Amino acid sequence: MTIQTQRSWAEPFKIKMVEPLKMTTKPEREKALKEAGYNTFLLRSEDVYIDLLTDSGTNAMSEHQWAGLMLGDEAYAGSRNFFHLEDAIKKHYGYKYLVPTHQGRGAEHLISKIMIKPGDFIPGNMYFTTTRLHQELAGGTFIDVIVDEAHDTSNKNPFKGNIDLQKLENIIKKAGAKKIPYVSIAGTVNMAGGQPFSMKNLKQVRELTDKHGIKIIFDATRAIENAYFIKLREDGYQNKTIPDILLEMCSYTDGATMSAKKDLLVNIGGFLALNDGDIFEEARNMVVIYEGLHTYGGLAGRDMEAMARGIEEAVLFDHIRARVGQVEYVGNKLLEAGVPIVEPIGGHAIFLDAKQFFSQIPQTEFPAQTLAAEIYLDSGVRTMERGIVSAGRNKDTGDHYYPKLELVRVTFPRRVYTQAHCDVTAESIIDVFERRQSIKGMKMVYEPKYLRFFQARFERL
Ligand SMILES: *Cc1c(COP(=O)(O)O)cnc(C)c1O
Repeated sequence: MTIQTQRSWAEPFKIKMVEPLKMTTKPEREKALKEAGYNTFLLRSEDVYIDLLTDSGTNAMSEHQWAGLMLGDEAYAGSRNFFHLEDAIKKHYGYKYLVPTHQGRGAEHLISKIMIKPGDFIPGNMYFTTTRLHQELAGGTFIDVIVDEAHDTSNKNPFKGNIDLQKLENIIKKAGAKKIPYVSIAGTVNMAGGQPFSMKNLKQVRELTDKHGIKIIFDATRAIENAYFIKLREDGYQNKTIPDILLEMCSYTDGATMSAKKDLLVNIGGFLALNDGDIFEEARNMVVIYEGLHTYGGLAGRDMEAMARGIEEAVLFDHIRARVGQVEYVGNKLLEAGVPIVEPIGGHAIFLDAKQFFSQIPQTEFPAQTLAAEIYLDSGVRTMERGIVSAGRNKDTGDHYYPKLELVRVTFPRRVYTQAHCDVTAESIIDVFERRQSIKGMKMVYEPKYLRFFQARFERL
């Protein structure tokens, strides 16, 4: 008799073309890091061995997608690739109308301008930088209504991306439904550590918003990863397919903004998808001003074709299991070694808890910035600060914001790195962890006025 054990997953692809990487020595990395002001955003990508800065636009396309590029119909109007994309979005996201945009923020710009009036409030499950900024530029105020657990790195709630219904009800009562054009809900919430919401929670949000005539706009950027977690973790969904779950999720919302550079396996692209004919008419009119004609929205025909084909690949169970599985693989290695990370492990990234990692470094000496620099120095792996530097300063007092979460994001591009790259990454982080006590913090020597994390420069203390 054989005993059925849990078998490991493997990637549902093999490698046909390779991109050589430069291997650097420690003195070379020390020099590169110094020139970059100890800010990983300022490194040249050439000097990076394994680039885990972001999963945005860094995906590897399939042979089918590359072949699609050759079928680009670059007509100014009515490109056939637009109609392929429209079909794929109808089939898998279920929305009636499509407005393509050059990337996610293009869609955010349009929907914010159309739906938000000055003085409005937009409740959402934790902010995303560009989403919130477009809401603010349209005169709105973002209100965070995510569950409290999202702010606690050690809380193991499987759905830390959920909306707190009481918080949502409170803001509706306080501001009045007329001042809330829509609720902004994101799949696998990035800033909370790649944490999903549950279908149950989304249904409840739909019921509550329906009662008040408030719409829901879905940030569907990582909706497929969210669908995968629902299948894994939520009662009643084990036997449903990823496409079924994705369609059901979208069916409880009124429209979606999309950065195709994430879930959809392309290097550039996005869209706004809608069910309401009037809002669509306005968006289709406005896209002409800001992005391009309504059948290309700032994209080449070939980009739309790659995206249409990417959708079909992105919803395959074996793909999404391997994608999230790779992140879990590294996360579990770090947990075994006692490295403090945000739990549960997220869908697209591991978030190192730099406050716990460097308990001797006060937040004013930039523990997360220091950790990202140390990891690069150790192995050439590039990660990103998501702590006090990213949070910026309070305009009124001039002091830093002191965010509760002081994190380093280790983000995995889709279909790009091998398990051996994953091992190198985990070993490097563990190595830095083992000598954490000997590492000192940094001081900021140059600070730009806006979004300082991109260009700030540091020196070692
Ligand atoms: C990347 C991202 C965006 C913005 O999309 P861009 O394509 O970078 O403009 C919006 N929301 C989320 C959740 C994202 O990850």
